[in-house]
Amino acid sequence: MHCNKLDRDWSESDRLAALDRYGILDTPPEPAFDEIVQLVSELLAAPIVAVNLIAEGRQWFKTEIGLGVREMPLDASICAVAILQPGGLVVPDTTQDSRFNCNPLVTGAPGLRFYAGELLETADGYPLGTLCVLDTKPRPEGLTTQQHLVLKTLAHQVMAQLELRRAVGEQEKTIAQYRRIEAELHAERDRSHQLLENEKQHAKVLGNVATAARTINAVLSRKSIAQVVVEESRQLLGVHQAVISLTDDQDWSQAITAVSLSEKYAKYRSYSEEPDGSGIYAEVCRTNQPMRLTQQDLEHHPAWKGFGRHAPSHPPMRGWLAVPLVGHGGKNLGLIQTSDKYEGEFDEQDEAILTQLAAIAAVGIENARLYDSLREQDRRKDEFLATLAHELRNPLAPIRTGLEVLSFVDDAGRATQIRAMMERQLTHLVRLVDDLMDVARVSQGKVELKRERVSLRSIVEAALESSRPLIEAAQHRLSVLPIDASLFVHGDLTRLAQSLGNIVNNAVKYSPRGSAIELSVLREQKDVLIRVKDTGIGITREMLPKIFDLFTQVGHSIDRAQGGLGIGLSLVAKLVEIHGGRVIAESEGLGKGSTFIIRLPLLQDTRSPTASLDNGRRKFESTVKGKRIMVIDDNVDAAQALSILLEHAGHHVTTVHDGLDALQAAKDIMPELIFMDIGLPRMSGYDVAAALRKNPALNGILLIATTGWGSEEDRRLSKEAGFNHHLIKPVDIGSVFKLLEQFFTHSPAP
Ligand code: ADP
Repeated sequence: MHCNKLDRDWSESDRLAALDRYGILDTPPEPAFDEIVQLVSELLAAPIVAVNLIAEGRQWFKTEIGLGVREMPLDASICAVAILQPGGLVVPDTTQDSRFNCNPLVTGAPGLRFYAGELLETADGYPLGTLCVLDTKPRPEGLTTQQHLVLKTLAHQVMAQLELRRAVGEQEKTIAQYRRIEAELHAERDRSHQLLENEKQHAKVLGNVATAARTINAVLSRKSIAQVVVEESRQLLGVHQAVISLTDDQDWSQAITAVSLSEKYAKYRSYSEEPDGSGIYAEVCRTNQPMRLTQQDLEHHPAWKGFGRHAPSHPPMRGWLAVPLVGHGGKNLGLIQTSDKYEGEFDEQDEAILTQLAAIAAVGIENARLYDSLREQDRRKDEFLATLAHELRNPLAPIRTGLEVLSFVDDAGRATQIRAMMERQLTHLVRLVDDLMDVARVSQGKVELKRERVSLRSIVEAALESSRPLIEAAQHRLSVLPIDASLFVHGDLTRLAQSLGNIVNNAVKYSPRGSAIELSVLREQKDVLIRVKDTGIGITREMLPKIFDLFTQVGHSIDRAQGGLGIGLSLVAKLVEIHGGRVIAESEGLGKGSTFIIRLPLLQDTRSPTASLDNGRRKFESTVKGKRIMVIDDNVDAAQALSILLEHAGHHVTTVHDGLDALQAAKDIMPELIFMDIGLPRMSGYDVAAALRKNPALNGILLIATTGWGSEEDRRLSKEAGFNHHLIKPVDIGSVFKLLEQFFTHSPAP
């Protein structure tokens, strides 16, 4: 087969694509086409006429006359050659044409001899096939001009029909597409409508939750919050039953429970069985995760527990939604449970709402707890202040009386006796204040331990040294079991002795006169236990865990002369704790005595004790005499008292009572040593000190702050202002003489 491919300016695949766009292949016969071939057949007196489309691998006839088939293979196709000829093809005698004389339709049936094909060409130049005329007789003259015109016109007609169908097809496609878009728009509108409805519903729920939140926040006791939460849960979710349980660290015996039941369950309102922590609800608290189950799911759950003997009195359930109450740091505070929805089963939204409500409730509950503890602390503080006033007055009263007595008594023996009494009371007063300061300092982590290798024996000795007078006064029998000399701890002797002394003093105070007290020190693996056992009034089980709290005192019936401020044990616990140890209290109950145990980590080496302890015995005598000293204090009595002491020790003392005068006096007197209060009129002690330090004439002067303020910050400030030392009032005379001694014997005389 010959074909001149160079003639065409299209590719076969583009041509096939163009044919495809008409969607005509394999469509049923149609009268419009049938009529055209009929007309051609008659006008051209041809036995065979066809509308032939050259498709992929075959020729397909939309309509034909005289062929009797609708498709044929391409190798028998004359039209396939014709479409490559611009303007169509006329073959007067196939037997004379080398392109077709071997064609099976020529050589065999039906014995074709004549062919005329007019192109079916698209507007953009693709030949789709032909309107062809065939004859079994040759027509040497070909087609007449008229016949050619007929064929050409009708071929256009075929193309017009094809175009029409294509246009209609495309229109239908557009319409279908339009319909689809319309349907999608409808669906979209329905969806938006639904979304809007959901939004409205959501907003309503949020509004209700917000109202519930306000209601919850308006109440301050946990019990009231619990009741509000169950009522609100029932309203918000539309359920017949809601229960809340508030627990402290999942201690179900202490749980607060509130229930809300609808009219349907009115007869169960008296049901009061408390949860015991063994049901499926405990799982919600344990995992801190919500649980949503149908009644069937619930009953099949392995953790579900029937109500046993309570079953007849418990309201029947229908489905279950439970959410945990989660507090600060993920701590479980209990849970909310709901059952029997008015309509349908619990869904995701119910769970979300209840979770939201639980979050609000959890905040409310924690606030209520905080409020309770603040109130409790406030109450304790008030009680403490009352006790403090009382305790401070206790020693002050005999001191004042003593002073009055001293003013008229002549008898030296009597006076000594009264002074001893006054000193005892003063020591007591100072200890009270020291304890208070200590608690504050330990609480703020400001106590610095002077740690060293300390033997247990020395701790016990030092503690008993201060407690012995009390023990003797109360006529108690103290037995100290032998202490292993090889036991040492790494600690601050003063602080440990103070702690043990406190416990021994309590044993003394809280035991009736003449009781037995036993002190023992035992090793237990890597620890040492110092045990103080008394046979006194004992402690109730409820109070045992509380006695280490600040300002806690058991009962108010105890004779106040015995009681302290309720700070001793708190201080002991903290001091022992910063030594890495622990204090434990045990008692069988009231009247059964108490045992206090200090547990400390043992120091592992067993070197024999080296330094003997210096118990800081006070030194009232001084070899330093004749110094020029200024005492500056706006409290005239305090200034006077100190100056009398210093004069008594042989010094020349000047007292001044305000800051500006002090500055002037210092220039006149040129003192070697100044004791100065910080809070002074007209010019503060800090400013006076700073000014003195700037005066070169006073170079080398010893500046000692005497003040009531003893915090780290106060010490830093006084040092910054130029003070050499910082003494806390009431000033310990021993320390004053010690300082004088140190300064004037170790440094060159000014
Ligand atoms: P206080 O200054 O009141 O003694 P503490 O902190 O030392 O304060 O003790 C707290 C409370 O613990 C005391 O008020 C007392 O009720 C109780 N307590 C302490 N030690 C004993 C003891 N050995 N026997 C009985 N009760 C004690």
